[in-house]
Order: sequence, then C-alpha cells, then structure tokens
Amino acid sequence: PETISIQELANRMSERSVDVIKFLMQQGQMMKPGDIIEPDLAELIASEFGHTVRRVAESDVEEGIFNVADNVENLVPRPPVVTIMGHVDHGKTSLLDAIRKTSVVSGEAGGITQHIGAYQVEQGGQKITFIDTPGHAAFTAMRARGAQATDIAILVVAADDSVMPQTIESINHAKSAGVPIIVAINKIDKPGADASKVRNALLQHEVFVESMGGEVLDVEVSALKGTNLDKLLDAILLQSEILELKADPTRTAEGVVIEAQLDKGRGPVATVLVQTGTLKIGDIVVAGDEWGRVRALITDKGAQLKEALPSMPVEVLGMQGTPLAGDRFAVVESESKAREIAEYRQRVAREKQVAKSAGQRGSLEQMMS
Ligand code: GDP
Ligand code: MG
Repeated sequence: PETISIQELANRMSERSVDVIKFLMQQGQMMKPGDIIEPDLAELIASEFGHTVRRVAESDVEEGIFNVADNVENLVPRPPVVTIMGHVDHGKTSLLDAIRKTSVVSGEAGGITQHIGAYQVEQGGQKITFIDTPGHAAFTAMRARGAQATDIAILVVAADDSVMPQTIESINHAKSAGVPIIVAINKIDKPGADASKVRNALLQHEVFVESMGGEVLDVEVSALKGTNLDKLLDAILLQSEILELKADPTRTAEGVVIEAQLDKGRGPVATVLVQTGTLKIGDIVVAGDEWGRVRALITDKGAQLKEALPSMPVEVLGMQGTPLAGDRFAVVESESKAREIAEYRQRVAREKQVAKSAGQRGSLEQMMS
C-alpha cells in the first residue's frame, strides 16, 4: 500500500504541516511532520482540508510504459549483448581493450573512439555489443534494479592461475541470471599456461566445456598477443544464434542505463543500451526518476546518429537530470507523461528516504535514553 509522510501530504495540499498535526491532535493522535501515515488516514486528512484524493499506484502511472511486450510479427534478429567477468588480474580489461582495438583497426579509419561504457564491434558483418563498465559492479547494480542487460557472459580465466574465488562468483552470477557462459581461457602465451587444468577446475563448478562433453563454448586466447580473438567473437555469434535473440525495431524504445554522469559542457549524459525498439532524436524518455527529450545520440566511435537500433549502446544527450546505472528507460508519448512518471518516482524515493531517516531518528533516541 502507498504511504506518505505528513509533511509530504501537507505540501501536496499546500497546507502547513503544523495545521495537519493540529488536526491529528484533535483526533487524539500525536504525530510529527516526518511520520508516515497509511492511505486511509491520508484520505481522511485530505477530505478534512477540502481536497479529493486520487490514489496512484505504481501500475497506474507506469502502466504500458515499461516492459511492454514486443509484437511477435515484428521481431527481427538483434546483436548479442556481452559482459566480461572473471577474477581480478585474469585479463578482463585487456581482453575488452584488445577486442575493441581489433575492431577500430578494421573499422573506419580515423574514427574517434571514446569510452562510453559499452561498444559495438563487427565480426563477419554481424554486430556484437560489449558492456565495458567494470564487469561485476555493472552486472550486480543492474540486476539489483531488476534490469537484465546481458545475453552472454564471457568468463575470463587466466591459464596460469586457473579458477579463483571471483571466477566462482562470476559463474554463480551468470547462472542465477540464467545467462549462458563462454569461457575465455586467457594468457595462453604464458609459459606456465595450462588450459586443461582450467577446464578440469571448471568441471568442479559445473561448467562443462565442449571438449569435456559439455555445451559451454571455450576458447584459448591471449589478450596480450591478440591470439584467437576472432575465434572468441565467432563463439559469441554461435552462442547468439542458439539463443535466437530478437527485438522489434518498429516500436518505441526501451532499455537500460549503462552509466550516466553530469558533463560540464553537455549536461547530463546517459549511456543507454537500447534493448528493443528504435530510439530517435526528439523522443521523450523516462529513465529512473529522470526524464528528457533526446537531443543527440552518439556512438562509442563518436558518430552522431538519428536513431539507435536494438542492442545498440549510445550516449543520450538531453536528459533533465542524471539517472543511475541500471535504471530502466522507456520512450513515452508526451512530456506531461514523462513528468508525471519522473515526479511519481522522485516522490516514492523521497518518501523512502523520509521513512528511513525517521527510523534512524527513532533508534538514536532509543540509544540515548
Ligand atoms: P583484469 O583485472 O581482469 O581487468 O586484468 P587486466 O586486464 O588488468 O590484466 C592484468 C594483468 O595481466 C596485466 O598486467 C595484463 O597486462 C596481463 N595480461 C592480460 N592478458 C594477458 C595475456 O593474454 N597474456 C599475458 N602474458 N598477460 C596478460
Ligand atoms: Mg580490469
């Protein structure tokens, strides 16, 4: 049930909270401005002050905006979205950089490559999207907000170090998210490299690679030397084919915020991953409790786009504020709808904050008595 603080209720009625508290006192209830009240009492107070109450549930405000199902008839294949995970120092960053560099060299000459938290490469004419934010943090932040951005997890295991605690953590993350794993056995250039030891160790954690009779694809690579990177990309495309990833590019866009920051010159900049639909310049979007009108769409190569297709990561300019990594975004039909959702979400966040600090004050009082 939706609750509200006395202060917030007073604000929304344009009344002084002291008058609300006075009224409650007359009813025999001693309360403070920060106290949270139930909807029934809020309704009583509101009618006492001559207001009518419209109870707004999350589903009312956000109905038909987020998690809107694709029209099956419009589904077309979309590129896979890949996250790289694994133990510290096993070569996640090196691998991401190596894959990116390969694509830059083969891509348009002189293309500006900027870091936007995700990038796209092409392999044999097919696109692959890599999420390039520090693997674990992004993955868990997004999952905590109920957003799943990843289709495939690349598990990097250094061949000279084998399975380590964060390798196991990564396996568990991927498994609980239901995301298939591809194993990249890295650092095979090193003298102490032992790929079969890695495969055996993975068996213990129920990751059964192909050569051991399982279904998990594995590729021996060297991020340092650039060995077998194309093999890894092919494995990703193969896995992607098995997954039959599809989206509807004809609908309005929905997706997830990969990262966002306030840029001195450009204002709020949100890197978003379009998960379905097509995001266009001029679209009105809601992301978390922020909204905006898309002013510019910029790729990781610095190119300005008019529209971004499913699985494409793009920087979005034009937000009124800075959303959070992991926030879901969606295109809405009007600015007023965008404002309504953003304000609703800001209010919910504020009320949670008030409730939290009220709880903290309570415990402080208890501690001191
Ligand atoms: P991360 O912590 O998983 O992101 O690992 P890094 O990419 O930062 O790599 C950790 C260290 O391993 C760095 O010193 C890299 O140069 C080195 N490294 C990464 N990949 C390879 C590789 O394929 N071969 C060798 N010999 N060293 C590598
Ligand atoms: Mg790293």
